[in-house]
Amino acid sequence: MSLAVHTSDLDVIGAGFVHLDYAATAPCVRAAADAVNALLPSYGSVHRGTGPRSQTSTLEYERARDVIADFLGCRPGDQVVFTRNTTDALNLLARALPPGTTTVVFDGEHHANLLPWPNALRLRAPASWAEAVTAAERALRDLDGPVLLTVTGASNVTGELWPVRELAEVAHRHGARIAVDAAQLAPHVPVSLAELGADYVALSGHKLYAPFGAGVLAGRADWLDAAPPYLAGGGASAHVGDRAGDVRWAAGPARHEGGTPNLLGAVSLAAVCAALVEADRAALRAHEQELLAHLREGLRRVPGAAEVSVFGTGSERVGIVSLALDGRDPSAVATRLADEFGIGVRAGKFCAHPLVRRLSGDSAGCAGGLLRVSFGLGTTFEDIDRLLEALAAL
Ligand code: PLP
Repeated sequence: MSLAVHTSDLDVIGAGFVHLDYAATAPCVRAAADAVNALLPSYGSVHRGTGPRSQTSTLEYERARDVIADFLGCRPGDQVVFTRNTTDALNLLARALPPGTTTVVFDGEHHANLLPWPNALRLRAPASWAEAVTAAERALRDLDGPVLLTVTGASNVTGELWPVRELAEVAHRHGARIAVDAAQLAPHVPVSLAELGADYVALSGHKLYAPFGAGVLAGRADWLDAAPPYLAGGGASAHVGDRAGDVRWAAGPARHEGGTPNLLGAVSLAAVCAALVEADRAALRAHEQELLAHLREGLRRVPGAAEVSVFGTGSERVGIVSLALDGRDPSAVATRLADEFGIGVRAGKFCAHPLVRRLSGDSAGCAGGLLRVSFGLGTTFEDIDRLLEALAAL
């Protein structure tokens, strides 16, 4: 796979849609589609076979792992395990925790980072970064044994960034580890395990412009190496004896990647990661922030629509905004936006029920949750204006 970046590598495929639901699934970019098309003629089994197809496929699969390790700032010894998505990655980590691990999680999380954890201590989503750090400090100092603090990098409801670096410091000061749900962070902001001081990071390819069904768990190898395989079967086993239970499990990422892996998912995700590493991410982020400011300013003029926030209006965020609609059903509004204006947004509770319930307050009109607008590469000011005009018309 070539790592050369053409100006079109991060171009979104599929013009003519006002798609403002990137937080659910982002469109495919050229780099991902090109990588898949380039590999298809030699597509074959991974780690299973000696023929040229198998050799090429195995090489590309392992190369994809290396590219993603670079993209995520992995440290020597860190592992990159391919999964189906973020939910799968966090469930894998939950099953790999040493026995007796306590997990600490804020209740503002997406269900993928709220539900998998055994022995979970749930903290109320704080009102500020400082409160988040204090709450984590207070919880962690009283815990013994292995502890994992797990937190989102950016909220899928409000788009607000969470103080990952600060929480990592607190966690490590108390001998705990930290996992970062980067499903909504990685598409917008560079994520580096080394720079954040995080122990694990999870993400989804389909939110990162590579919608071919792959996700990733990256981070410290020791717990993963010591854990039972996530999926028992071929690929995860190094030796199987004649008696039941006589199995030696594979070491390294293969231990948790039982079955034939998703080659095209891995390769397309790596192609996007490579393109993003080469791109001017500061410029991409600056452009996204301009779009965000334009959107938020326009939304303030929409009667009966109030932006929701955990940390306050001035907090740093990515291209995601959710609105509480006074007395209007967000699903009905989303349906009309689609049917009458050809605009795709999302309505509901976004798999973050506790947080959305809280942010919706007691407003009767918010029983159906919120209306979410999210965007990224390829979004234009015109897209935002079309949404604002449609909302004004409604
Ligand atoms: N975490 C966050 C913050 C998300 O926004 C999502 C999906 O929207 C997930 C986890 C779960 O991602 P997936 O559905 O790809 O497993």
